[in-house]
Amino acid sequence: MTSFLINEELLLEGGSAASGLTIEEQARLTGVVVSHAHLDHIAELPYLADNIFGLREDSLKVIGARDVLEVIQESIFNNAVWPNFCEICHEDTPILDFSAIEETETRSLGGIRITPYAVDHKGTTFGFIIQDAESALLYTSDTGPTEAIWRGAAGVENLRAIITEVSFPDRMEELARMTRHLTPAMLHAEMRKMPPDVPVYIFHIKAQYGDETMAEIEALGEARIEVLEEGKTYHL
Ligand SMILES: [Zn+2]
Ligand SMILES: [Zn+2]
Repeated sequence: MTSFLINEELLLEGGSAASGLTIEEQARLTGVVVSHAHLDHIAELPYLADNIFGLREDSLKVIGARDVLEVIQESIFNNAVWPNFCEICHEDTPILDFSAIEETETRSLGGIRITPYAVDHKGTTFGFIIQDAESALLYTSDTGPTEAIWRGAAGVENLRAIITEVSFPDRMEELARMTRHLTPAMLHAEMRKMPPDVPVYIFHIKAQYGDETMAEIEALGEARIEVLEEGKTYHL
């Protein structure tokens, strides 16, 4: 499951929003940005909503593509699987505020600007360019070979890190293409579209193929690739 804490206020993805953060950290968030509706990216939004109840004055913003937010609303916060926390209030304020964002529309949140770009995955999926006054981060989320976000990256100054995915080892390329993910060899081809000299951090490796996939990433011999470590803080 995936979540990245960008600063104290902004969480990227809700996969491990509750188990990865203390209750105090969860209550301090201004917003959660979700890339798509797959469970590994939203699984702990229900617990996050539950945990912050009564601990804050304002609603927690959940930001994503309109149809992604609709899927989350209809399939999870539907008063059957989980209460609808967009209607449940603490002192007249709803706990969650679902806020749709359009492709290439920049949104400011907690001192950070977020710009979504559509990537090539199953269902509507956004990658994001995330910027503050000093630096920028590009996150592709889950994707197969893609284009628009790399064109967006070309105009970004101070791009300090790219987070992208590798899911399967090379021998499973057919499955990777079918499910719109990358293998190490596909990542290598994708790197030709990336701005040069920016560190490339990898997430999303399927656990059961972890050793094999990591060995193939290592064998690419690309010094700028690093596999992200869970729980570690990275400074841009
Ligand atoms: Zn996915
Ligand atoms: Zn995923």
